[in-house]
Amino acid sequence: MAERSIFSRIIDGEIPTEFVYQDDLCVCIRDIAPQAPTHLLIIPRKSIPKLVDATAEDQALLGHLMVKAGEIARQLGVGDAFRLVINNGAGAGQTVFHLHIHLLANKTFKEGSLGF
Ligand code: AMP
Repeated sequence: MAERSIFSRIIDGEIPTEFVYQDDLCVCIRDIAPQAPTHLLIIPRKSIPKLVDATAEDQALLGHLMVKAGEIARQLGVGDAFRLVINNGAGAGQTVFHLHIHLLANKTFKEGSLGF
């Protein structure tokens, strides 16, 4: 069996971590090495290693993550300006192989630029 990701261990309560939000499908935590003043991770409880591993069966789950990202941003008062990022694969910078969405806010995002 593949080794469980650090996010599975957080979700299962093995690594004490404050949940900014949680429901039966996902959790939201603060990134341990923030790259913006607000840097959250929205993580499905289901362990899907990478976005490309998601299937049609995961469609509602992926939609749920996006809707929750918007709601969480609104609740944190950053609903007007935030950025969502999914790294897919080591070549794209993915380091934790349990699908997650980065939510970044409270920093200046250059117009028309992804910042790389
Ligand atoms: P990625 O590089 O897209 O796979 O993102 C993984 C993110 O998880 C990185 O931004 C890490 O800083 C973050 N991270 C790793 N371990 C933890 C942890 N224990 N708690 C919160 N965030 C973490």
